[in-house]
Amino acid sequence: RAKEKGKGRCMVYSARDKGAPAHDISLEAAMFSAVREGEFLLYYQPIVSARSRKIEGFETLMRWCHPTLGMVPPARFIPIAESNGLINLLGAWALKAACMQVRQFELAARRELYISVNISPRQFRSDQFLDVLDEALSMSGVPANRLVLEITEGTLMVDPAHAEGLLLRMAERSARIAIDDFGTGYSSLAYLKRFPISVLKVDRTFIKDLPDSRKDAAICSAVLDLARHLDLSVVAEGVETEAQLARLAQSGCHYVQGYLTGRPMPAHVALAALNDDLYESLLPEELRQ
Ligand code: C2E
Ligand code: MG
Ligand code: MG
Ligand code: MG
Repeated sequence: RAKEKGKGRCMVYSARDKGAPAHDISLEAAMFSAVREGEFLLYYQPIVSARSRKIEGFETLMRWCHPTLGMVPPARFIPIAESNGLINLLGAWALKAACMQVRQFELAARRELYISVNISPRQFRSDQFLDVLDEALSMSGVPANRLVLEITEGTLMVDPAHAEGLLLRMAERSARIAIDDFGTGYSSLAYLKRFPISVLKVDRTFIKDLPDSRKDAAICSAVLDLARHLDLSVVAEGVETEAQLARLAQSGCHYVQGYLTGRPMPAHVALAALNDDLYESLLPEELRQ
């Protein structure tokens, strides 16, 4: 099996072969054997408190560690998996594995954490989705309110009536729904009223030019205001600089996620980061960083 060939073999982040078409037939064929060979894995990116930088949870991000191409980015393989249906299998695995993993994170951290998992449009439409969700929750023992399911505005709008029914059934289980890439999809705010949503993840396009861009600052403030009045949490995506973080914290944004506070990382590195947090919290005040 590929896994046994050694752990170091996927350190190369140069998977993008130039000029490859979006739906590369050979990549598609390779995906089926990749599933059998265990080449897919999950990385975890910290979602931290904007003020304290303490880790509050993680977003699960899928990786494909190909034996010769190296890391194939999700932007290349998720669309293929979405079109050939493999996403249902991969997505079910990711949801279950992420729920199991967060238990281990919580044990290491000695506190509650939450786990955020991306759900693709096809997975969301699948008849099996609720069964997979229930199985992930029951096999892991993770309380549903610590699981956040990330969907995009587009996923909601394919079939709003179906979405409404499904989201209600998710809310009955008290799983939380996040709108991913908020602000880049349909601009209608009506769905914030119609659907039981708990979290807005503000897309990186609105964060990257902070704090200089007055337009982006205005958009972020407006989203934060709206969220406050609707009782929603906000996560700012793609925070890369201290200046962005300072601006967001000052505007009342509670959670940030980005390269500044932690890149997507394998589970054992995430565990080490949690251990650092725990260590820090056990130190007397005057010895903390
Ligand atoms: P997303 O859900 O919006 O995830 C955030 C993306 O932003 C991730 O890219 C993450 O690595 C990247 N990112 C985080 N912080 C920064 C930053 O400070 N700067 C920059 N430039 N980028 C940052 P990634 O891992 O390549 O994933 C891309 C997309 O692929 C995700 O966007 C999501 O839509 C999809 N995806 C990833 N894993 C899964 C999965 O398990 N299932 C499904 N359905 N989709 C997934
Ligand atoms: Mg996401
Ligand atoms: Mg996102
Ligand atoms: Mg995004």
